[in-house]
Amino acid sequence: MAAGDRPFLRFDSVTRQFGETTAVAGVTLDIRQGSFVALVGASGSGKSTLLKTVNRLIEPTAGTVLLEGKDVAGSQPSRLRRRIGYVFQGVGLFPHMTVAENIAIVPRLEGEKIGHGAIARLLELVELEPALARRRPDELSGGQRQRVGVARALAGNAHLLLMDEPFGALDPITRDALGRRVRDLHQELDLTTIMVTHDMAEALLLADRILVMDAGMIVADATPAQLLAGQGGKIAQALVAVPREQAQALADLTR
Ligand code: ADP
Ligand code: MG
Repeated sequence: MAAGDRPFLRFDSVTRQFGETTAVAGVTLDIRQGSFVALVGASGSGKSTLLKTVNRLIEPTAGTVLLEGKDVAGSQPSRLRRRIGYVFQGVGLFPHMTVAENIAIVPRLEGEKIGHGAIARLLELVELEPALARRRPDELSGGQRQRVGVARALAGNAHLLLMDEPFGALDPITRDALGRRVRDLHQELDLTTIMVTHDMAEALLLADRILVMDAGMIVADATPAQLLAGQGGKIAQALVAVPREQAQALADLTR
């Protein structure tokens, strides 16, 4: 295969067992550079586990994950996490550190410092005032905290952005605004983005490819347009039915 055809990220028969539980069951998948992929599925379907095999927060029990053709198992976890932005489920900012210190933490793992100017630019990317750099997480709103989480994920000049239910705890308006900001950043910074969500509406609105997971397997791999046209199979369609029925109910109200 020529280098240009090489997938940016490849999961090759990735399996992860936790005792008797098979969290991820032989996932094989290629992700193209520049794509915005949503990983959707019910709670416990294996989304977080699959995502975490990319930055080695979880090691597969079988199979390999290749980033730009190289097995991630051969890379230092700290170096890998410097290159791969990761937005945690539930934010995960350190409460005793300022916003600036929280943002600087990933580069620091690799012995690098990032200055005030860089912090200010990162805050600007996520549309936060530079003055917020000196605050602690408990002095921020939920939406501001999540924006800091995104700024931190981008602090290492990552080209790959992994997000685990990043907007789950936010009110709908903040969630919508932040979702659109992340979509714009994806474009501006030429990122490859994988976003875990249980919200099919969010996936349909933000992603250009939707993977549906069920019991550790990818059961659908389709574009939003294909899913909206009824493709992708039963499990995917059951998820699409939720926002569709809500939209229909709203439309009926105005008739
Ligand atoms: P999702 O993110 O889709 O909700 P997860 O990947 O977190 O799903 O979990 C998939 C399955 O693996 C679940 O049955 C979960 O209970 C199990 N699991 C995840 N992490 C662990 C762990 N550290 N120890 C034991 N079981 C786990
Ligand atoms: Mg999860």
